[in-house]
Amino acid sequence: MVANTTGGVSFDTDDETELILDSLDDFIEREVEPIVEELGDTYTNPRKGRHENGRWTDELLEAREEIRRRSAEGGFYAMNLPEDAGGEGVSPVTWYRAKKHLASHGGGLERYVLAGPEGPKPLLLQAEGEQVERYLEPTVRAEKSTAFAQTEPGYGSDSPNMETTAEKSEARSASERSGTAAEKDGDEWVLNGRKQWITNAPYADFVQLFARTTPQEAAGRYGGITCFIVEREEYELGSYNNAVGAEGMQAEIVLDDVRVPEDRMLGEVDEAFYAAMEFLSLGRLELGAEAVGYAEFLLEKASEYVTDREAFGRTIGNFQQVSSKLAKGRAKTDAADAAGLKLAWKMAQDERTVMDSSVLKWFATNVLWEVADAAVQVHGADGLAEEHPYMDLVHRARILRIVEGTDEIQLNTIAKTMGIVD
Ligand SMILES: Cc1cc2nc3c(=O)[nH]c(=O)nc-3n(C[C@H](O)[C@H](O)[C@H](O)COP(=O)(O)OP(=O)(O)OC[C@H]3O[C@@H](n4cnc5c(N)ncnc54)[C@H](O)[C@@H]3O)c2cc1C
Repeated sequence: MVANTTGGVSFDTDDETELILDSLDDFIEREVEPIVEELGDTYTNPRKGRHENGRWTDELLEAREEIRRRSAEGGFYAMNLPEDAGGEGVSPVTWYRAKKHLASHGGGLERYVLAGPEGPKPLLLQAEGEQVERYLEPTVRAEKSTAFAQTEPGYGSDSPNMETTAEKSEARSASERSGTAAEKDGDEWVLNGRKQWITNAPYADFVQLFARTTPQEAAGRYGGITCFIVEREEYELGSYNNAVGAEGMQAEIVLDDVRVPEDRMLGEVDEAFYAAMEFLSLGRLELGAEAVGYAEFLLEKASEYVTDREAFGRTIGNFQQVSSKLAKGRAKTDAADAAGLKLAWKMAQDERTVMDSSVLKWFATNVLWEVADAAVQVHGADGLAEEHPYMDLVHRARILRIVEGTDEIQLNTIAKTMGIVD
């Protein structure tokens, strides 16, 4: 695959991106569909493929891992990361189009073909020294998976107020750890607190976890927070947080005097929140692309249905109340796509994207919500049936309006950037 590093403002898809999208389709048909077929509705039906507490069955997890690994081997999985980190260095425009294209397949297990929250994000590019080999590279190759742990029981939107702490302590002697030798081996960080709603926490090999290292009074609102790499066997898993539509994917992380070596700090001490803010736009670009892709999928399915289903002697698309739902959905999806392309293009030019990323996140996810509701409605009772994907995407739309900054937080950001609130 050839890297496209500049993108472009054109609404045409350039040849390289076209090639990537075609190869994605081939890959899904050849490598993913047989796996999905074998699993049936195990992924989409929450009553299947999950244990009582929500945990995915080994069979479902193995299918996900197989898809990730094959995708990494094919050069798709982390294609947006720079080549020196093992990616393909594709531009944000191409990444946006690839994510959207993937979502337009409908949001089943094939969503794991391109890295999501379980995969490498730019935050992990801060890895240094041994961290590169131990965490970054295997995650890019999809041999390991990760999670991003910020939200706490008391603090979601207001996460800079987090209560989880990390304190430096002299390392315990080996005798304290194992009861044998007595040598100190450098400093450690001691972590205490609780995280919740952390995507992939139950299955991750390691998490990137945010903790307070300097009090807010001394460090300022966004300062004083540091990111640590905590391995799976070091943290305790609390309850599963089973969101309708994402059962088994999120869980609590409990940290009770968890000690990690000094070299597990990812990036600079006290600077993690600023580092994360730098990458917010990419996360919002991805969620916007997903929302637009799902809306495309739903519009296609709904259009097929209303031109086939008959009532009162006519196909139901002829009833204006039916057609206008889909026509409005088409118009809004096009507008959301334009907002996505604009954000991606600005990111490719290294321009400031605070406003554009909030506009996309808020608008595209709300468009998906409307389109998903319309898709259910025009299908009548079939729209509600669990063997069809429509309600699943209603739930997905609802989730997308809350994660990575709620509707209200996006609108706050837009208003602040407009200069109309303090
Ligand atoms: C499926 C799923 C996956 C998730 N994955 C992760 C993950 O991987 N890592 C992670 O760290 N977190 C994750 N989260 C948590 C998610 O980021 C938070 O739920 C989100 O930030 C909102 O926080 P909250 O739920 O605490 O709601 P709150 O912040 O308590 O908000 C409650 C309501 O108040 C509103 N509100 C709050 N503050 C303001 C304000 N200033 N102005 C106007 N309205 C306001 C909100 O918009 C919302 O409507 C996930 C959540 C879900 C559901």
